Amino acid sequence: MAVWKCNKCGNTVDLQTPPNTCPSCKEKCEFVDVSCYIPECGGAESGNVNEQVFQESYKTPK
Ligand SMILES: [Zn+2]
Repeated sequence: MAVWKCNKCGNTVDLQTPPNTCPSCKEKCEFVDVSCYIPECGGAESGNVNEQVFQESYKTPK
């Protein structure tokens, strides 16, 4: 399981792969993998969001 963040509205979804359309804003958005993979935020099994990646994704628009 991974946590994906919609880069349009900031909504997060827990899915294996990012959805085609965001369930929140109903648009085809770019989804960023904001899953925690490091022990600092609970590890890969926790299902937590990596807050640092989450915040960084706002600063680096593609
Ligand atoms: Zn969205």
